[in-house]
Amino acid sequence: MPQAYKIIDHAYDVVVIGAGGAGLRATLGMAAVELRTACITKVFPTRSHTVAAQGGISAALGNMGDGDNWKFHMYDTIKGSDWLGDQDAIEYMCRHAVPAVIELEHMGVPFSRTDEGTIYQRPFGGHTLDFGKTMAKRTCAAADKTGHAILHTLYQQSLKHKAEFFNECVALDLILDKDGLCRGVMAWNLEDGTLHRFAAHIVVMATGGYGRAYFSCTSAHTCTGDGNAMILRAGLPLQDMEFVQFHPTGLYGVGSLISEGARGEGGYLTNSEGERFMERYAPTVKDLASRDVVSRAITMEINAGRGVGPLKDHVELHIEHLDPSILHERLPGILDLARVFAGVDGTKAPIPVIPTVHYNMGGIPTNYHGEVLNPTQENPEQVVPGLMAIGETACVSVHGANRLGANSLLDLIVFGRAAALRAKELLAKEKSLPTLPAGAGDEIIAKFDALRHAKGSLKTAEIRFQLQQTMQTHCSVFRTQTHLEEGLQKTKEIAASYKDIHIFDQSLIWNSDLVEALELENLIQQSLVTIASALNRTESRGAHAREDFPERDDTQWLKHTVASLKGDNVSFAYRPVHLHTLTPEVDVVSPKKRVY
Ligand SMILES: Cc1cc2nc3c(=O)[nH]c(=O)nc-3n(C[C@H](O)[C@H](O)[C@H](O)COP(=O)(O)OP(=O)(O)OC[C@H]3O[C@@H](n4cnc5c(N)ncnc54)[C@H](O)[C@@H]3O)c2cc1C
Repeated sequence: MPQAYKIIDHAYDVVVIGAGGAGLRATLGMAAVELRTACITKVFPTRSHTVAAQGGISAALGNMGDGDNWKFHMYDTIKGSDWLGDQDAIEYMCRHAVPAVIELEHMGVPFSRTDEGTIYQRPFGGHTLDFGKTMAKRTCAAADKTGHAILHTLYQQSLKHKAEFFNECVALDLILDKDGLCRGVMAWNLEDGTLHRFAAHIVVMATGGYGRAYFSCTSAHTCTGDGNAMILRAGLPLQDMEFVQFHPTGLYGVGSLISEGARGEGGYLTNSEGERFMERYAPTVKDLASRDVVSRAITMEINAGRGVGPLKDHVELHIEHLDPSILHERLPGILDLARVFAGVDGTKAPIPVIPTVHYNMGGIPTNYHGEVLNPTQENPEQVVPGLMAIGETACVSVHGANRLGANSLLDLIVFGRAAALRAKELLAKEKSLPTLPAGAGDEIIAKFDALRHAKGSLKTAEIRFQLQQTMQTHCSVFRTQTHLEEGLQKTKEIAASYKDIHIFDQSLIWNSDLVEALELENLIQQSLVTIASALNRTESRGAHAREDFPERDDTQWLKHTVASLKGDNVSFAYRPVHLHTLTPEVDVVSPKKRVY
């Protein structure tokens, strides 16, 4: 080892990396069945990005008297995914949605209420009744602070079940044995500068998305997809990384999210001519079409010269016609964001908005038990022993090529729970705690030490700016071959420039310079895979819109992209989409043209 670092050893049945909604639901589930469980998180649990989720969590409770049914929810999710979602996993999620949300209520989540005292539900994009006929009221909300309500409740429940937390502790890399199998994880405690070596029977990745690969996104600065990058460095592939969701209504100039709940409550979009243009693009559900459809429509309006403002580069969201008392009750956070960041009083004037990066459909391939898969093997459903992934970092795949609003919070809860159930089964006979051979993780520490003392000529922020600009320009709502090729070339140059990084602070305690440099490496690796996967997929599906291949091509491309990274080179394999259901109770939804 290059320098004597203080290393503290731990052994657990399960180590969960991440304390967002997914990580906490898994942690409390594991702790509740008496698995010895640790949760490592680089931010304090209740600061995870889940806390910022606004609009709500979907479940066909039917509380608003609309006769909703989980089978409608399943149909909508498959259609929303543009048929790239695995239908067995989607059945699992939608079927378990109703008990999962009721369980949350019983744990103490303070949902908004109907007059009858049941959980309040609002319409959301792409969620319909009777297989697309009218809008459903399916999204369960705690005003526009649903993620906040859920995350705090899950943290309290985890403490109740005596889970152990390692807060403000950055996981660096997975510890692999000589056969390449995961045996644990190495982490750096920011508070006291110590390094921690965790041995675990199972490591659960719950590290969230990588929105920060882009210049304008709705996600927190900590959303750098560290888990995805650790998987790539462990020689395992990521799935469907070309599918990056742009939310139609990011606040213009800032990127903060204006929840789809705003349109769910009756808001609508207009262009510079004052036209409600969504009526042309989605005649049935209009402003509540799914996100990829609305984001493309806005981009097309702006490209046709019908954007608003001096630069004609955004559109307007109207909620000022709605009753101000309802707005204050159901969308207080949105009113605050518009007032503070855009100087607009949403009860009186339209809010300026633009499509902004919001969610990563792609990530670590898993089955619906949360077990990580390695589809580059002969059997594409091959489970990787000792590894699980849940939440935004995972690709189950329930969101396919495009996620429906309110389905992510649901995914966290349902698959966080599923992972705990599976871990209990897998470890039922395991009495002893795992051990690691001497020297395990030394190469991770050597790499960490080298970065800490890097004395090149470029600042982290400079390289990151180049990367974010490149992704924003070259891998955006609409994509073309030339643009993507240029983008891939630039990203490779950026990856090379990382070797010339300069770290100014060598301390081990709260060294944010070094944390950001570690996160930047992760962002670069995921960007390489994202842009190469986008170049590779020569069709348009869901959030992936190729101007040069405008149609969906089910003959060639009804399959998951499986991408591995070696150096800066991305290689591909494929995994079949599951066009079968879990039970005979529901029918497969066969691919057809997607209209709203
Ligand atoms: C503004 C906003 C609003 C949204 N609104 C909704 C909504 O209304 N409904 C909906 O369904 N979805 C919504 N989404 C999407 C949804 O909130 C996210 O997809 C989801 O919360 C992700 O949860 P997660 O548990 O996977 O990860 P996160 O909540 O992002 O948590 C990641 C965790 O991993 C930890 N971590 C990461 N890297 C490391 C590392 N190297 N070492 C240690 N720990 C690490 C972090 O500390 C954190 O605890 C919204 C997203 C945003 C950005």
